[in-house]
Amino acid sequence: MTVSTEDLKALFVRIAEAMAREKDRLCELDGVIGDADHGIAMELGFSAAAKAVSELDSTTADPTLVFNTAAKSFLNAVGASSGPLYATALMRAGAVAKGKPSLNDDDMVELFAAFARGIQDRGKAEIGEKTMVDAWAPAAAACRATRDQGLSLPECLAAGLKAGEAGAEATKNMIATKGRSSRLGERALGHIDPGAASAVVIISCFKAHFTS
Ligand code: ADP
Ligand code: MG
Ligand code: MG
Repeated sequence: MTVSTEDLKALFVRIAEAMAREKDRLCELDGVIGDADHGIAMELGFSAAAKAVSELDSTTADPTLVFNTAAKSFLNAVGASSGPLYATALMRAGAVAKGKPSLNDDDMVELFAAFARGIQDRGKAEIGEKTMVDAWAPAAAACRATRDQGLSLPECLAAGLKAGEAGAEATKNMIATKGRSSRLGERALGHIDPGAASAVVIISCFKAHFTS
């Protein structure tokens, strides 16, 4: 598969549309264990990112510029803790694309892993702390493992989505030790982490976008 600047611009539009649809559900999840703004933050961030990348000239903009532009707009639009986390993820994705006019399957799998790693590096959360890392880390690992078996990008992203969904579901049985919900202690038990839920939304957009 060859992923162009145009494909990546359209990916951001897809994610922004998905976040608009999921906004209320994500706010409700955050209302239970946080401050009820997660859907607003994600919708604001990705709509700002989609708007900014849509304005880039595809004849001159490369994939790195798409991700860097998205990172900057996301950070400017979002005051919540997800702002710097996703801005770092997007910058790391941009760094993987550096110097490449288009991306192949290996690049995309590496980019996906760098995106996930960026969230972990920025927020310092490990698996099991009831954050978005519980969806992103297993998704990236499954994506890479599937590529190592020689399978194509859609199959890698399908495996990533499955692992991300399982990871998000597993946050129900976790006590938060990072972020706002860490103040709740055991009261957070039984509730899915909103950041893990929105991570699944993003991962499903990646999968849908690169599955023809
Ligand atoms: P805020 O808590 O500032 O209102 P959001 O509601 O946008 O921010 O995001 C909350 C989500 O951010 C949580 O559900 C969790 O998944 C994620 N999160 C918080 N802190 C961290 C961290 N240190 N590392 C990774 N993810 C985190
Ligand atoms: Mg919140
Ligand atoms: Mg908030």
